[in-house]
Amino acid sequence: MRVALFGGTFDPPHLGHLAIAKAAADAFQLDSVLFAPAGLQPLKTDHHTSPFKDRLEMVRLACKIDHRFHASLSDAPQPDGTPNYTVETLATLRQQMPHATLFNLVGADSFLTLRQWREPDRLLTLADWIVVSRPGSSLDDLSSLHLTPEQHSHVHLLTTVHEDISATQLRQYLAVGDPCRNLLPPEVEQYIRQHGLYQGSQ
Ligand code: ATP
Repeated sequence: MRVALFGGTFDPPHLGHLAIAKAAADAFQLDSVLFAPAGLQPLKTDHHTSPFKDRLEMVRLACKIDHRFHASLSDAPQPDGTPNYTVETLATLRQQMPHATLFNLVGADSFLTLRQWREPDRLLTLADWIVVSRPGSSLDDLSSLHLTPEQHSHVHLLTTVHEDISATQLRQYLAVGDPCRNLLPPEVEQYIRQHGLYQGSQ
């Protein structure tokens, strides 16, 4: 069983997320991609986010597109309101699935912040990493991450994806009434409309 954790805010999940998950699943023969919306992202604690239940429901709807995609509660809000650290999530998944080949799927912008994550060196031992290219974030020079050759061997770059979409941009369009039909899965677009999400947000 080959399983990738795909963490994020998913506020909202968009076609860029689905495209990178599909590219990763195809290229690395993944049986399952776990889309795990974070209760609280450690590096985004000062950002306002939509309620977890809405983000989870939108992820559930988005995951219907591919039988390998699953919404996961592994980064659900902590009872004490503390952030969700990927190192803890991966360690838990490793315990739950001792025989799985575990991957962590991230975009280039996230990976380039690796040294700000909790326990980066341990993170690189808990899973192999699939790092997907993203416009505006170059993967040509990873020297700032100070990876050892051993760590490097666990990092797999997927540079064929060029999805110029961000949730930040989407929220801005949605706030001014653009339904973003070309950037969102139809069921997510419908959920946003029915629940009045992102109206007047920035
Ligand atoms: P925001 O604009 O709110 O920061 P986002 O679009 O970056 O959101 P997240 O939910 O924060 O979306 O991202 C989850 C993961 O998906 C991260 O690892 C991020 O790098 C990756 N990702 C999101 N959009 C893309 C994209 N267009 N191309 C490549 N990776 C992406």
